[in-house]
Amino acid sequence: MTTVDPAAGQAVYEADRAHVFHSWSAQGAVTPLPVAGAEGAYFWDYEGKRYLDFASQLVFTNIGHQHPKVVAAIKEQADKLCTIQPAFANDARSEAARLIAERAPGGLNRVFFTNGGAEAVEHAVRMARLHTGRTKVLTTYRSYHGATANAIVMTGEPRRWASDANVSGFVHFWGPYLYRSPFHATDEAQECQRALEHLENTIVFEGAATVAAVVLEPVVGTAGILVPPPGYLAGVRALCDKYGIVFVADEVMAGFGRTGAWFAVDNWDVTPDLITFAKGVNSGYVPLGGVIIAESVYETFRERPYPGGLTYSGHPLACAAAVATLTAMRDEKIVEHAKWLGDAVIGPGLRAIADRHPSVGEVRGLGVFWAVELVRSKETREPLVPYNAAGADAKPMNDFAAACRARGLWPFVNMNRTHVVPPCTTGEEEAKEGLAILDEALTVADAFCG
Ligand code: PLP
Repeated sequence: MTTVDPAAGQAVYEADRAHVFHSWSAQGAVTPLPVAGAEGAYFWDYEGKRYLDFASQLVFTNIGHQHPKVVAAIKEQADKLCTIQPAFANDARSEAARLIAERAPGGLNRVFFTNGGAEAVEHAVRMARLHTGRTKVLTTYRSYHGATANAIVMTGEPRRWASDANVSGFVHFWGPYLYRSPFHATDEAQECQRALEHLENTIVFEGAATVAAVVLEPVVGTAGILVPPPGYLAGVRALCDKYGIVFVADEVMAGFGRTGAWFAVDNWDVTPDLITFAKGVNSGYVPLGGVIIAESVYETFRERPYPGGLTYSGHPLACAAAVATLTAMRDEKIVEHAKWLGDAVIGPGLRAIADRHPSVGEVRGLGVFWAVELVRSKETREPLVPYNAAGADAKPMNDFAAACRARGLWPFVNMNRTHVVPPCTTGEEEAKEGLAILDEALTVADAFCG
């Protein structure tokens, strides 16, 4: 139910501007929309304007807003026991770990809980280094791994640049991306083979015996929704086995239903040594993340203490939300629905949109994880805005986003792309409504084509 109370919205806005320091922003430039409430795939402001959320906030409300079973589970847990420190055993924590392990591929069976994705990445790196006795970590350009000390340096996109100084041991390589192939490949098989050769060369030239981990997003998220060609992840697994390297799949964004499978690696039947997760595990109702650990790595820490911990590791409120989320996702077949929505509605809908608009260079994705890549020309593939564009250079994408919002669609926009990443629970009619708005708003982008 929408709320109409502009005065309350104004007060929220003013207190925010007076006191809240915002992420990733010049503080004088932010104008946050005050949000009054949300349900399912929608949220609304204090003017009563509703938005269909094609961004799932920051790609985490996989189960939609205010799922009644998750809300009830948090309330029940709050009545029972709000908090308990991590050294004790707790029923919500035990059950969340059991449900996560039950869904994990290849018998990965142990869970270390964190408060979010970046911490999960930090701990996966620490585990890999101690397990191998090596230090170097290989990650891809076109990746995001979080904003803590190591995770931001592992990141491959411009958010890393300001934090790059004085950190060594992190090496970037190119992953597959056929539309803008770093390997001049002309088909997926060639892209796959050349990307694997490039990774092997990187490992060998860095000194294989110095490399602790290869960390990658099995389907790259924020940096482009890059779906790997068949055989790529299996090839990475084989290279890690060959050189004794820990394979870490960062599933913070891709995990828990987003790709139409519990984990993105399930789409290719590949088992990493460590999986990092957060976001969809409980749709962010209470902050939670973690690392799912293979027995081989677990064995390293059977006798030897693991040198790491967090005050709120496995917080009962967050774990109760995870138990309810994972149970509802199974009972309501939400992962299956996400796959169906991608195959039957979003994929075909976006391909039809691509045919109609000169500004759409490529659409790609799976499940509820899609990118629409905007270009000046389909022939040259010149991006609609330059890499990392800001200010006037970003106008075409800013105008497109404004056209979406004016029509009641909240888009996810990154560089020259819009990502179609609604909740896994989005209904067929809702998805079609969003695609229709996207279709209209793209005429704004078309006007910038040469
Ligand atoms: N890893 C990936 C793949 C992500 O997409 C993100 C966040 O978007 C993170 C790590 C960092 O997660 P958090 O923001 O919870 O620290």
